Amino acid sequence: MKPATRSLQSRAVCQSKIQKPVLSEGRTDPKSKILLGAHMSIGGGVHMAIQRACSVGCTTMQIFVKNNMQWLARPLTRREIGAFLNHSQRHELLSIFAHANYLINLAATNPQFHANSLRSLSEELIRADQLKLPFLVLHPGAHLGAGEEAGLEKIIESIDHVFSRIPKIKTRIALETTAGQGSCLGSKFEHLAYIISRVREPERLCVCLDTAHIFAAGYDIGSESAVRKTFREFDRVILRDRLVAIHVNDSKTACGSRVDRHEHIGRGKIGLEAFRIIMRDHRFRKIPKVLETPKGKDLREDVENLKTLRGLIGS
Ligand SMILES: [Zn+2]
Ligand SMILES: [Zn+2]
Repeated sequence: MKPATRSLQSRAVCQSKIQKPVLSEGRTDPKSKILLGAHMSIGGGVHMAIQRACSVGCTTMQIFVKNNMQWLARPLTRREIGAFLNHSQRHELLSIFAHANYLINLAATNPQFHANSLRSLSEELIRADQLKLPFLVLHPGAHLGAGEEAGLEKIIESIDHVFSRIPKIKTRIALETTAGQGSCLGSKFEHLAYIISRVREPERLCVCLDTAHIFAAGYDIGSESAVRKTFREFDRVILRDRLVAIHVNDSKTACGSRVDRHEHIGRGKIGLEAFRIIMRDHRFRKIPKVLETPKGKDLREDVENLKTLRGLIGS
C-alpha cells in the first residue's frame, strides 16, 4: 500500500487545538503542565467526568459522549451541555477529548450494521462538538473477511459520507492505531496514512497512538532505540503533526501478538522505557497522554499509574 503523498499530507496538516496550559495562582511546578490523565466515566452525566478527573489530579481526560455499547442515544439537553461547559473545574483540564463507541465499524459488511455505524458516528461527532471537544478517537474498522483493501476503501467512503452530512461540525476524527486483532485495520501506520491521503477532507482527520496497540501490532517499543525507531517510522509514514493524543497503556501481551489487552504501567511487556521517553521528550509535551488501564470506581489504580508516569519525568 502506498503511503500518503507528501503534498496531500502537508495540505492537510491538522494542528492541535489544545489550549496553552494555564496555571492557577501559585502553581509553578513544571510537572503540573504535563498533559496527563485518564479515560473517565460519564456515569451520572457528562459533567461528572470532570469531577472524577480532577479528583485524581488529571490535566487532561478522554470520555465517551454516550453509553459506549449503544448505537444511539437521546440528544444532550441544553442543561447537560451547560453543566459540562460551565463546570467550575473545567479550566483544570487543559485538554478534553472523546472516544467513539465500540460498536461502530465503518468497514462493516452487513448493510444494516454499516448504516447504524454511519448514523452513530455522525451523532457522536455532533455531541462532541456540542461539548466543544476538538476530536473523537475512532478505531478505523474491521474488514470481516472482505480483505484489507476493500476494508480501507469502505472506511474512506464512509468517512466522506459522514463528513458531507455534517459540514459545520468542527470536531475531527482521530484515527487510532490498533493491535490488528481479528480483521481490525489500523495496525500498520500505512493504513492510517492511506485513509488520510484518500479522503475528501483530510484536514478533518488526525491520529491517536495507543502504546499497547502498536506494541501488540508488532512495533517494538521495548528499548530506547526501538522507541526512537518506531517514532521515526510514525513520522515518516504519518507525520508527527497529525498526532493529537497518546493512549499510555502497558500491554499484557507480547510484541506482535495482535492481541489487545491493556496492563498497568510498568507491569506489562512494554516496560518503562517507552513511557519515560513519552513523558520526557519535549515533542510530546503538548500532546495529551491518557490512561486506559483497568480500574475500579475509587480510581485507586489511576492514582497509582499517574504517579508512576509522573515519576518518570525526573527533575
Ligand atoms: Zn480505542
Ligand atoms: Zn486506546
